[in-house]
Amino acid sequence: MGKKRILSGMRPTGKMHLGHLHGALLNWKNLQKDYECFYFIADWHALTSEYADTKIIKDSIYDIIIDWVSMGLDPEVATFFIQSNIMEHAELHLIFSMITPLSWLERNPTYKEQLRELTQKDLYTYGFLGYPVLQAADILMYRAHGVPVGEDQAPHVEMTREIARRFNHLYGDVFPVPDVLLTPTSKLLGIDRRKMSKSYNNSIYLTDTIEEVGNKVGQMITDPQRARRSDPGRPEVCNVFSFHEIYTPDETVRQIDHDCRTAAIGCVECKKIMAEHLNKALDPIREKRRELEADLNHVKDIIQKGNAHAKMIARQTMELVREAVRI
Ligand code: SF4
Repeated sequence: MGKKRILSGMRPTGKMHLGHLHGALLNWKNLQKDYECFYFIADWHALTSEYADTKIIKDSIYDIIIDWVSMGLDPEVATFFIQSNIMEHAELHLIFSMITPLSWLERNPTYKEQLRELTQKDLYTYGFLGYPVLQAADILMYRAHGVPVGEDQAPHVEMTREIARRFNHLYGDVFPVPDVLLTPTSKLLGIDRRKMSKSYNNSIYLTDTIEEVGNKVGQMITDPQRARRSDPGRPEVCNVFSFHEIYTPDETVRQIDHDCRTAAIGCVECKKIMAEHLNKALDPIREKRRELEADLNHVKDIIQKGNAHAKMIARQTMELVREAVRI
């Protein structure tokens, strides 16, 4: 029996940071072994919020593909493609929009939350409300069996499942109903202790230099109760320590835990040790990125090859869909 198929995407709205790495990409890398993976750049999705200034979308596409390959996603194993290069997504989105009740979209918790949070942008558009319908088209186009997503995206996949069931009920069995493969939430926060996000300007990027990483780590907020060097600290509430747990060897982490609690180490020194280990982990990614940046034709080839594979499957799916809908 062949491998099960999964699909996941990212909006091209800037470079990849450690939140992306630990919240999605490392999980995608693991999934490559057991699944037939489709990873795509969701540029039409980015348009739902970036429609007024689209420059960032185009600029980010190459950056993101380079980041993906640099951190270990393998284009020989997984298929990378660009959503807007596969026009079939728009057609399937249109068909799904005919059968999706408005009430499903209006009650979507992510929709309500983003309207509340992203106040600097006017998101009261038809496209933004319909975001989960486009997402359903992306997923079902490849008749995926599963979708790796964070908890916040799970309601969208639930809607994809409902749309698949509704389509199958109306027109016959075309789509498998995909499972949600929950990605564990990343413990790493931004340097200001809020969620790591480009809009908060608090991220450590995969492209940051050794100096940039050192400066950002130097600014990180630690245990807020540790006001003086002589105060004992609490590693369990310190974001720097969460980074240590991932990047620093176990023995050193145990020592830092002890030294922090007894005020035997200061935050400045502790941060320096962390930055050193973080930079060590980022070095091979930087090296691979340099190689790819020197050979952009290779990156172009990866995209073209992935697009061609995705297109072939999308065509097959749309033939089934048109036949089922009889239009
Ligand atoms: S010593 Fe390290 S772990 Fe302890 S509060 Fe300072 S930065 Fe955090």
